[in-house]
Amino acid sequence: MSLGRNLTYGETLWFNYTANKSDFYLYCHNTIFLIIFYTLVPLPMVMIELLRSKKFEIYKIQPKTTFTLSEMMECYRKVLITFVFAVGPLQLFSYPIIEWVGIRTSLPLPSASEVFWQLVVYFLVEDYANYWLHRMLHHYKWGYDKIHRVHHEYVAPISFAAPYAHWAEIIILGLASFLGPLLVPCHMFTFLLWFVLRQIEAIETHSGYEFPWSPSKYIPFYGGAIYHDYHHFVGESCHSNFASVFTYCDYIYGTDKGYRYQKEVFEKRREKLKMEEKVNGSAPVFKSE
Ligand SMILES: [Zn+2]
Ligand SMILES: [Zn+2]
Repeated sequence: MSLGRNLTYGETLWFNYTANKSDFYLYCHNTIFLIIFYTLVPLPMVMIELLRSKKFEIYKIQPKTTFTLSEMMECYRKVLITFVFAVGPLQLFSYPIIEWVGIRTSLPLPSASEVFWQLVVYFLVEDYANYWLHRMLHHYKWGYDKIHRVHHEYVAPISFAAPYAHWAEIIILGLASFLGPLLVPCHMFTFLLWFVLRQIEAIETHSGYEFPWSPSKYIPFYGGAIYHDYHHFVGESCHSNFASVFTYCDYIYGTDKGYRYQKEVFEKRREKLKMEEKVNGSAPVFKSE
């Protein structure tokens, strides 16, 4: 190799993976990965929702709502259609831009710190852009009625509903996800990783459950499931929690009022259920408020 050194293990894997694949074909793998992760990551949450075990019930954010398997699969089916008719074409037409900004596929692979800091930038840029685009979709009645209303059909979200939206919203908010890599071009590996991580994050925030053991709890200013769940709970008239990942935009622009009160209610309910569990020696049958 022309690197003047032996390939690392990761580079060998990348070399083998990318050999005989054009840059365009590699770029198209983004959609394939998104579909694979969208299919697999929500599965544990589907099981939890179907079982409705008392152990997990404490963490259910909106306990009055339940979903059957067929309802969840219907959501999945509709999302796959938008993947084919919105995400796929967006992918195809955006390739010249990706090529133009210089998303490279060649070796060497970027260092771990380069990948990490680029991902931090992408999350921050996306969060900021998404905040304003999302806020506009609520602000303008036409935008809400014609486009954003579809995503809000889920008053209590489920993991499969993370990308459940009007095709136009997929494109509008998809632009926010592209913005980071356009401003700070990266390696194709980082680009693919970014979209997968962003999707996993969206699946978690739409899970309908707030688990205290989630690793994302350690991310500074991270919103999490309860944060975005509140946005769905209030619906059309919601003037709160527009940000997709972090809490700082809503804090700066004063759009997190109402949410703080709701979070307290949720914490109190959880504490009450925990106490009842201790007294009775077993988990209580959940009583909705
Ligand atoms: Zn909204
Ligand atoms: Zn949502």
